[in-house]
Amino acid sequence: MDALFKKISTRTQPEQCAVHGTYESKAVMLGDKVLHWMRCPQCSAAAQAERALAQAKSDAVAAQQKLEARLQHAGIPLRYRAKTFASFVAANAGQAAALVTAVEFADHFAEHRRQGSVLVFSGRPGTGKSHLAIAIGHEVMRKGTVLYTSAIDAVRLVRDSWRRDAERSETQVLRMLAAIDLLILDEVGVQYGTEAEQISLFDIIDKRYRDLMPTILISNLGTGDMKAFLGERSYDRLREDGQWVKFDWDSQRGHVLSGD
Ligand SMILES: [Zn+2]
Repeated sequence: MDALFKKISTRTQPEQCAVHGTYESKAVMLGDKVLHWMRCPQCSAAAQAERALAQAKSDAVAAQQKLEARLQHAGIPLRYRAKTFASFVAANAGQAAALVTAVEFADHFAEHRRQGSVLVFSGRPGTGKSHLAIAIGHEVMRKGTVLYTSAIDAVRLVRDSWRRDAERSETQVLRMLAAIDLLILDEVGVQYGTEAEQISLFDIIDKRYRDLMPTILISNLGTGDMKAFLGERSYDRLREDGQWVKFDWDSQRGHVLSGD
């Protein structure tokens, strides 16, 4: 080992770089043999910077893919990806109040997660209900799990479990839906075919309510229709414990590019 080390030496000599001109090159020698000549330091630095840039680019791509995967997992459709608090236009007092409520909900999500808060966004189509709910979802997604789904798709998930060849039992599906940190149910109140389907929706909402899991309900129904749809008991409970935001302005579709 000592013998080997004794044979290793370095020497320097001027070298020529086609780009940067003359530089002092250092060679690592083993006896008379050159093991390694140092390249032009400026070329080395440039190559290093290029590698760092390529790494940063691939990191950015990986981060983007991770985000995409998370959005995919959360069920947030492509057209909703840009729905953030920043892109929500609060042009009147009602919109500003709705925005404040939504930001508060996202900012204090840990608290709402413990309390199992329910947030109800009701109002006409095109008033930004889904936009604000998705914006909350984007924030919650940084730390927890989010699922955005139409109420009818959630109901179908439950009803699929009734099939003889179903992969999961109804209990498993309900448990799965109840385990998501934030469930956003859109289009609540869109008429379903059967009463059984309506009951499935209540089962989902009720299970989350009992398990103290926060839920956002989005509906085009006004409070009266909501009462008729949910039934007195569920409605009263939502009235007492839920936070209602009425989106009672005209549709912004057509005026604002971001839509609902
Ligand atoms: Zn060079």
